[in-house]
Amino acid sequence: LRQVAALLAHHPVLDRQRAIVTTAITNLDLHDISRSAYTFGLTTLFVAHPIAAQRVLAERVREHWVTGSGQRRIPDRKPPMEILRVVESIDVALDELGGADSVEIWVTGASSNEGPLLEHDAARLLLREPGKPVLIVFGTGWGLADAICQRAAARLSPIVSPRADGYNHLSVRAAAAIIFDRLLGDRAAR
Ligand code: SAM
Repeated sequence: LRQVAALLAHHPVLDRQRAIVTTAITNLDLHDISRSAYTFGLTTLFVAHPIAAQRVLAERVREHWVTGSGQRRIPDRKPPMEILRVVESIDVALDELGGADSVEIWVTGASSNEGPLLEHDAARLLLREPGKPVLIVFGTGWGLADAICQRAAARLSPIVSPRADGYNHLSVRAAAAIIFDRLLGDRAAR
């Protein structure tokens, strides 16, 4: 199985008007997505933020559950938080995974009109063939900016809705868990 890591991006991401913005880190994202990432065997959940004060906050949350009173109170929370890595940018994450040239970025998003898509079943098979480590990138705000999407080797197809109006704007927490299960979940367990 290829190494899979994930990254939650807070810049450059889009706002409602599709302007480039920087969003604040949501604590819930740290707990929720690292637990999903750990459950499905990802090696690392990177949380990228360009502002040092935001990274300090995220590190403090991490420390609380890895070495602080959180770890003593609820030891089960420790392993997922240990795979959390707070970094300044996607470039730092790529360097930690072996360098931009030896990592494939797969981006995600709710919209399906942004170029060729990698279906989840095909992605699942690709992860089971020899290949570079994969970094699955999730956005915040109203989604990832083009600057990130342009660097991607693939864009995972969106999780689609059976609704007539196609509403599929999931929280990033829900989207990450669904995608991790589809790509890495143990089908036999169903
Ligand atoms: N602020 C909200 C939140 O709390 O999550 C906004 C959602 S967040 C921008 C949307 C991100 O979640 C996208 O960048 C993508 O990574 C993921 N996402 C949301 N809906 C999705 C879908 N239907 N299919 C795939 N990814 C989705």
